[in-house]
Amino acid sequence: MILSNELKIEKFVSLANFTTWRIGGTAEYLAEPKTVDELEDVMQWAHSKHIQCQIIGAGSNLLINDSEIEGLSICMKKLHGLKIDKENGLIVAAAGESIPNFCRQAAKAGLHGMEWGIGIPGTIGGAVVMNAGAQGGSIADCLSSIQVLSLTSKKIFNLKKEDLRYSYRTSILQKEPLIVLSAIFKLDPGHSSKKLYQLINKNLMNRIKSQPYKLPSCGSVFRNPEPWKAGKLIEELGLKGYRIGDAAISEKHSNFIVNLGNAKAEHITALINLVQERVKEKYGFRLRTEVKQLGFDKRD
Ligand SMILES: Cc1cc2nc3c(=O)[nH]c(=O)nc-3n(C[C@H](O)[C@H](O)[C@H](O)COP(=O)(O)OP(=O)(O)OC[C@H]3O[C@@H](n4cnc5c(N)ncnc54)[C@H](O)[C@@H]3O)c2cc1C
Repeated sequence: MILSNELKIEKFVSLANFTTWRIGGTAEYLAEPKTVDELEDVMQWAHSKHIQCQIIGAGSNLLINDSEIEGLSICMKKLHGLKIDKENGLIVAAAGESIPNFCRQAAKAGLHGMEWGIGIPGTIGGAVVMNAGAQGGSIADCLSSIQVLSLTSKKIFNLKKEDLRYSYRTSILQKEPLIVLSAIFKLDPGHSSKKLYQLINKNLMNRIKSQPYKLPSCGSVFRNPEPWKAGKLIEELGLKGYRIGDAAISEKHSNFIVNLGNAKAEHITALINLVQERVKEKYGFRLRTEVKQLGFDKRD
C-alpha cells in the first residue's frame, strides 16, 4: 500500500529482521518513515482505520513474540539527521540516528561525553527511552531535551530532561504513549578528536573482548540488582552455556542470551523464566529484565 511519494505500509512482514536477536513474528502492518511528516501520515492512516501503533528502534533491546503482531509496527531507524554545533557542544539528533554513528561524529567534532556509547547498536530514540549507558555514563548525563509526538493527541511538543525522571535504565517514556522524534545533547566541547577516537576504540575493543558480538543478542537481558551484577549471579548458578532450543546463555558474558541459529521467542522466554526462578531460589529475589517485550500479554 503506497501512502505518499515512496512511503509504503507493508502487510505481513517478518519482524525477525528488525531485531538484533533475529527473532520476531509477523507484523500485520509495517512502516519505516524517513521524516516526521511521513510518520504523521502513517499515524493518520492508522488512526483512520482504528489501528494501534507500536514503535521499534533498532530492535536491540526488544523481544518480539513469535505470533502475528497486530496493528502497525513503526520502525524509526530511517528517520535520520544530525546537526552539530561544535563551539557550544550541542548536537541535535533525529530518533533514527545510530548510537555508534552519533558517538563517532561527536568525537570527530571534539565533543566529549558519549565515548561509552560506541558498542551499543541502538538508535538515539531507543537510547533516550531506555536511558542507555555503559562504563558509568548514561544518556541522562548528556541529554538536554527531546521532541516527542503523542500517540494519543497526535501533538508534537518538547520535554526537558528533568521531565523524563531518569534513573538506571528507566524513564517515564517506557510507560507514556510518546514517540521520540529527536533529542538535543549538551556535550563538552574543545577536546582533541584524536584522543576521543582512541578512547572510543579502546571501549570498543574491551566490549568485543568481553561480550559475544558475533552472535545475535539484545545485550544484557537483566538489570543489575545493585550492588550485584546479574551476569555474576547467573555464572555462580552454573548456568553459563545453558541452552533451551537455540537460545543459550552466552559462554562469554552470562547476562547475554544468544541466538545460536533458530531460537524462537518462546525459547528466550523459557530461559529468562528459568534464570529468574533459579536466582529467586538461591538469592531470594527476582531478577528484573532490562529487555522490552512486544506482542506478549505481560510486561516485566
Ligand atoms: C550487543 C549489544 C550490546 C548492548 N550494550 C548495551 C549497553 O552497554 N548499554 C545499554 O544501555 N544497552 C545496551 N544494549 C541494549 C540496546 O542497544 C539499548 O537499550 C538501546 O538503547 C536500544 O535502542 P533501540 O533503538 O534498539 O530500541 P529498541 O530495542 O527498538 O526499543 C526499546 C524500547 O524503546 C522503544 N522505542 C524505541 N525507539 C523509540 C522512539 N523513537 N520513540 C519511542 N519509543 C521508542 C521501543 O518501543 C521499546 O520499548 C546492547 C544491545 C546489544 C545487542
